[in-house]
Amino acid sequence: MSLQFDDIHNNVTRGKVSIAGFGPGNPELLTIKTHKALKTADVVFYDDLLDASYLDNYKAEKVYVGKRRGNHACSQAEINNMLLEAALEGKNVLRLKGGDPLIFGRGIEEYNFLAERNVEVELVPGISSAMAAAADALVSLTARGVSSSLAFVSGHDLEKLIIPRADTLVVYMGASNQKPLAKLMIEQGWDEATPLVVVRNASYKDAETRRYTLRSLQESMNLLPSPAIMIIGWTAAETSQQLIKPAV
Ligand code: SAH
Repeated sequence: MSLQFDDIHNNVTRGKVSIAGFGPGNPELLTIKTHKALKTADVVFYDDLLDASYLDNYKAEKVYVGKRRGNHACSQAEINNMLLEAALEGKNVLRLKGGDPLIFGRGIEEYNFLAERNVEVELVPGISSAMAAAADALVSLTARGVSSSLAFVSGHDLEKLIIPRADTLVVYMGASNQKPLAKLMIEQGWDEATPLVVVRNASYKDAETRRYTLRSLQESMNLLPSPAIMIIGWTAAETSQQLIKPAV
């Protein structure tokens, strides 16, 4: 059903929409604010990459709009309209996203769509998977004397990727491109010996970590599948001794 402008403006009782981060997956990393939004929501539209069974603790209606588990992907336009319709029905709506809604989460598109239609909407941050991966791998994303800049990168489409000149790179959505990414970085002048760590299922009990250099990754037969975060740079070195960046 598509809503007309007049329908929207004639509607007086509107619900409120919270676009909130669930965190990296482990419910212990949920914020109190997102927990409160879960408690008060009438309906929750949720994605992949979170512990969906945890949502059973809340009475709200749950609607899965993610792209995995064999489901047909909901388009962004469909999701936008579902959120709008639920709000116009006067419901308290929670749009729950993995990690933080503003990091590779399209949260701002949903925010703008709703705000432009005069729906009350708020953004609630979440702990991004990068932070959970760093903690699991015992890697500091920045480190005094080693890394004073940090870039978040999508590894989804390497053809479009301009690798930023940062001391540390965090790569989201790069699990299936690990080797080509390492190759591209070396081609673009990164030291082959640059260490990196890959963390799968960060924050969960079964989190797994693998360490490489840009060179060794290319030869490795032991790669972790999605969902995984890569942290690339000298802070990812295994021991504090290796934290000494070689002179260029
Ligand atoms: N908004 C999310 C990112 C969504 S993009 C956030 O802030 O974390 C999806 C990518 O996030 C995945 O391809 C993977 O790279 C990463 N990711 C999400 N959850 C993860 C987890 N628990 N462990 C490792 N990587 C994860």
